[in-house]
Amino acid sequence: MDARNLGPKIKVVVSNNVRVSHVWQGYQHMNDPRAVIFLNSRAYEGFKSGANATLVHEMTHLFTWKFNSHSLREGVADYVARAVMPNASVGPNAANALPTPVDWAFRYLGSSQPAPSELMTDVEFRKSYYFLSYVFVKALIDRTSMADFLRFYDSAYSDTLFESTFKVKRLDLICELRLGTQCKE
Ligand SMILES: [Zn+2]
Repeated sequence: MDARNLGPKIKVVVSNNVRVSHVWQGYQHMNDPRAVIFLNSRAYEGFKSGANATLVHEMTHLFTWKFNSHSLREGVADYVARAVMPNASVGPNAANALPTPVDWAFRYLGSSQPAPSELMTDVEFRKSYYFLSYVFVKALIDRTSMADFLRFYDSAYSDTLFESTFKVKRLDLICELRLGTQCKE
């Protein structure tokens, strides 16, 4: 972890009052990074029994708190959670979730757009945003390596850097993975 900015320890607050688990300041964490996680009680019980990897997702945010894409931020957190606990659910998604194409894929997946407001209001949007971001990040890491992915993630966002790092255009990869409804067959 980035101990210089976040300190040497992670504090985890477990409570029934936490509806959706999150790190300190939620989507604004980057503006005030602290090693504090608010974990829903069910996610905590599920973590102890091996059925829920949300804690790993949130912990990954603390190791990757500086990001250039909110979609990549959520995707890499799910990627690590699913790698560490492959049979567990993560956040709103089951272990065996399957991708369904969406009409907002071009706008958000792997882009530099900030967190969409629908994440707070639309459960179905939230589910697919997290899962499709995971699918997209997994493809980027599979094409290159975690080190290459993180080098891009830590850099100022640009389409040129995306293409030179991953050897594919973002929109082409979305269609290759069949994640966008606007892709031609
Ligand atoms: Zn998250």
